[in-house]
Amino acid sequence: MQRVYLDNAATTAIRPEVVDEMANVMKNVFGNPSSTHVFGREAKALIELARKNISQRLNVSPAEIYFTSCGTESNNTIIRSCVNDLDVSRIITSNLEHKCVYEAIKDVESRGKVEVIRLNIFENGEIDYNQLEELLKDHSQKTLVSLMHANNEIGNITDVKRISKLCQENNTLFHTDTVQTVGHYDLDFQDLGMDFASCSAHKIHGPKGAGFLYAKKSSHIKPLISGGGQERGMRSGTENVYGIVGLSKAFDLAIDELDQHIQHIKQIKQYTINQLQEAIPGVGFNGLSGDLDKSLYALLSIRLPFHDALIGFELELAGIAVSQGSACSSGAAKTSGVISTICSSEEIERITPLRVSFSHETTKEEIDILIGTLKKITEKNLLQKA
Ligand code: PLP
Repeated sequence: MQRVYLDNAATTAIRPEVVDEMANVMKNVFGNPSSTHVFGREAKALIELARKNISQRLNVSPAEIYFTSCGTESNNTIIRSCVNDLDVSRIITSNLEHKCVYEAIKDVESRGKVEVIRLNIFENGEIDYNQLEELLKDHSQKTLVSLMHANNEIGNITDVKRISKLCQENNTLFHTDTVQTVGHYDLDFQDLGMDFASCSAHKIHGPKGAGFLYAKKSSHIKPLISGGGQERGMRSGTENVYGIVGLSKAFDLAIDELDQHIQHIKQIKQYTINQLQEAIPGVGFNGLSGDLDKSLYALLSIRLPFHDALIGFELELAGIAVSQGSACSSGAAKTSGVISTICSSEEIERITPLRVSFSHETTKEEIDILIGTLKKITEKNLLQKA
């Protein structure tokens, strides 16, 4: 049976070019980057080269990039440090954030450290920008806005430039989780204007266990992890040298081949939408994910017009890997927080949400396998209902 991988928002296959680059470092550069001898200096040079490369591509200063282990660590560091070190006492966020942001904010809230305001969300998954604008007029508390760039479940894209401008006008800090957009778009962080952002290598065909956080030079956040003072004091612990090299290589490949990839993946997404609409009457799409211009081009959040709690297993039996919730909770049958936020409980009883996410390697043949299987599952469900 052919296996079909359509869960690229959860993680991507590491590219062979990345593996080669990492293997070369593993074999030949084993020094501790903190050592002052030549072995250490060689390793340190690789890290600094990666930092320079990434920062140039994002149009920021190398001093604004800190390597971490993943998106989760980056987002946690930013949020917790804003509260602990920058006197933030109010956070404006939404219920659509990835768990690592949502839970970090819930944690600081439960410790009584901050007041948290969660923005109204419209049925299409858009945040209420007018409410945000009104809230920002209150300057009585030091505020952090934390709103993700692209949603990992429904693909909605937030207008980061608009929020940055609002935040700057109101002397407010702005963090945006860019884990689903770095390497998927040619981003200019300076132009986007946020204070903090995050990245995870395994979402862009790089290795697991490597990522970075971006913090504007003027932000002065402090480390969560203390120790040997690596990453200019921001993130102690001996650096994951080959992970960082792999991240930089994956980022290079992603941006150098971006136009071809976007063109291919958009075609695949449009094909999936068309085929689904033809095969399954009443099929819909969650959030803005059916709109190619307003959503992440690599992700489609499908809304099947019946409730099938076993769909994950049925697709699994057919060799198809998709997600029913967010990346971290795939496999869990529980309805995701994002879907619960944009759908009423009666609606949730009547539908089945499915997230499919593509890569430059996804083929139309794979989509045909998905559609054929979903068609059979739909027919079975409609028969059971009749
Ligand atoms: N933020 C978003 C939007 C994500 O999609 C993910 C992963 O699913 C993360 C953060 C967490 O990244 P990591 O898996 O590197 O911890």
